[in-house]
Amino acid sequence: MKAEIIAVGSELLTPDRLDTNSLFLTEELNKLGVEVVRKSVVGDNREDLLAAFRESRNRVELVIACGGLGPTEDDMTRETVAELLGRKLVRDPAILQAIEGRFRSFKREMPEINARQAMVPEGAEALDNPRGTAPGLWIEDRGHMVALLPGPPREMKPMFLEHVLPKLARRVSGVRVIHRELRVTGLGESHVEQRIAPIYKRYPDVNTTVLAAPGEVQVHLRIWSDDFGHANRILDEIVQGFDIALTDRIFSRDGSTLDEVVAQLLLLNNATISAAESCTGGLFAQRLTSIAGSSAYFLGGVVCYSNELKTAWADVPASLLQAKGAVSAEVATALADGIRHRAGSLIGVGITGIAGPGGGSDEKPVGTVHIAISTAAGVKERLVHFPGDREMIRIQASQAALDMVRIHFLYNGAQSPHGSHVAKHVGGQVGGAGGALPSPAPLKRS
Ligand code: AMP
Ligand code: MG
Repeated sequence: MKAEIIAVGSELLTPDRLDTNSLFLTEELNKLGVEVVRKSVVGDNREDLLAAFRESRNRVELVIACGGLGPTEDDMTRETVAELLGRKLVRDPAILQAIEGRFRSFKREMPEINARQAMVPEGAEALDNPRGTAPGLWIEDRGHMVALLPGPPREMKPMFLEHVLPKLARRVSGVRVIHRELRVTGLGESHVEQRIAPIYKRYPDVNTTVLAAPGEVQVHLRIWSDDFGHANRILDEIVQGFDIALTDRIFSRDGSTLDEVVAQLLLLNNATISAAESCTGGLFAQRLTSIAGSSAYFLGGVVCYSNELKTAWADVPASLLQAKGAVSAEVATALADGIRHRAGSLIGVGITGIAGPGGGSDEKPVGTVHIAISTAAGVKERLVHFPGDREMIRIQASQAALDMVRIHFLYNGAQSPHGSHVAKHVGGQVGGAGGALPSPAPLKRS
């Protein structure tokens, strides 16, 4: 079954409000096996609404609209749909009573204008709305189904789940969408595309989308099928191919974020971590602590912007800062070592770089970032050049630092077999097997 969604409301055509209802509806419809083939956002205007409903109804079997069911003059979804279908609006006494009752329960009298909400197109079924005054409407018309839902998400969502979903479930075929989301970091969108395209192109029935997000690339695989087992086997096969093509760059296979993946690894390994950050201004710490339970692994950190505080708070020798400059491999290493000792954590992270827009030079352009991770087994340091503006550079730097922690657990301190993206080593020995940390936990998440 194919569906279209119409989001009704002039406010949704301004820069202030976004149609989010359709995201929820699409997810729920997809789960049922209903494919959303088009969405529209239409202002509170009779002509535009008529055209939108007419066109959608001509294209698909199911039209779901949200918004425009309120009591005021500008809310006209109900009237417009009745007009389009050639049905009279009749007052439903039960709905009127329910609305009056709702006002009474708040010790208020129902304003006259709310009576409009008790008007129902002939033959339509009113859908109860215990969380607001506007009932929804379900209309079947010459092989088409139209659902009109209220705009506020807290009213729309339960109404869809309680009233619309059961009606649809009875009609849809067994075809469902089966979805996988992989997340990749340390490779740009085009590189990911180049590596995986030869694989996914062999599966024309699978819809593959590659989406760039700050610091990562998301790969979505969708397949419509009524054979769940077969579809999953095909997706497994593609993911296996991607695993080879993208080596250890895939950090998530279930939509979890890099913060969550790293938090999980720290927890599973009973490891603790601390950070001394310069250009990321605490973003690394913020991301790791945004997860509930972070006190089990995150001991603390410092934001040390000035050279003096790099020395005072993370024991970076003043002579090193003088000799190498604040943005250098040596200072990143000293920050990581210093904070690890100060905090008494198993892992210390040091980040120093130039977020811009000022402060760059030929030798160290804006986007130059040194990241180091220190453990009892040694330090790994990485130099990266990030593109983009200040905010993007900060996000990518925190992402790269998190990824170094992930890679540390993946190889337990050993050099990556895949080379270039993993640390080069600076200063002293590097832990191999027998490093200070317990064995790496399997990356697979439950
Ligand atoms: P309405 O049913 O048109 O009176 O909508 C009332 C309120 O619901 C609007 O002011 C919005 O805040 C919210 N709303 C309406 N449509 C949407 C939508 N598609 N996505 C998210 N919020 C919405
Ligand atoms: Mg509205």
